[in-house]
Amino acid sequence: MSSEIRIKKLRGSGGYVMARVTDEQQMKGNLGGPDLFLAPIGRLDADKISKHFCNTCEKEFDGAPKIEFENPNEEVAENLILAERGQYICNTCESSIAEYREFKKQDEAGDVGNAKPLEPQTEVAPQVETPQPIVESTPQPVEEPEIQSPQETVTQPSSATSVSSIEGRAVYDENANKIGIAKQVGIDSTQSMVLVITQNDGTEGSIPWKNIKKVGEVILLGNPEESAPPGKCSNCGFSNKEGSKFCEECGTPLQ
Ligand SMILES: [Zn+2]
Ligand SMILES: [Zn+2]
Repeated sequence: MSSEIRIKKLRGSGGYVMARVTDEQQMKGNLGGPDLFLAPIGRLDADKISKHFCNTCEKEFDGAPKIEFENPNEEVAENLILAERGQYICNTCESSIAEYREFKKQDEAGDVGNAKPLEPQTEVAPQVETPQPIVESTPQPVEEPEIQSPQETVTQPSSATSVSSIEGRAVYDENANKIGIAKQVGIDSTQSMVLVITQNDGTEGSIPWKNIKKVGEVILLGNPEESAPPGKCSNCGFSNKEGSKFCEECGTPLQ
């Protein structure tokens, strides 16, 4: 028993804790690098934490930091529930040492379905950054097979997304270069939603969900703010009339 539990340093965004973790927790906290992270592990029992370090205080303290959490049980996507959102807080200066979110599937056997855009006024703790999936929840017709060329899909005005079938979709950057293949939706060490992809060289990479402009037959990256108005020229930024084929200012063909 005791051989399975060892004291590890678990990093957060504003410090770290030293805690006894199980093998399973250690696996969860390992995001591929040499460090272990608190965020994917979630809430630890305070009595498992022997020390904590606050970056703001620049000091190590004995014992556990304050752990605050809530259970919003908020549906962030079909069959994906935000079960718990919590923070490790410095007892001295109240800075956040680490944050975490725990998600669960409503129906364990089911797939994660369409992502729902989060409402901006959801009562989140102000210091927590809520991932805003910029996807529309138009369900895809079931009978439609996934054989469409990327070009056709990218220009479609409304995007349909289904997180469950995101795997295997080609991922293009804002310059229409294919950068990899979508693997799954995940959570990074800062608890933000990310798209995990297999990059062209075969290694794994992750893309912040907010950088995803469109999820369709292919996944298109880009800055949503920049691409927002339909007639906006990607070359010079001129706002053309909706439906214009070419930019009035510089002649660049518009999408
Ligand atoms: Zn502090
Ligand atoms: Zn232009």
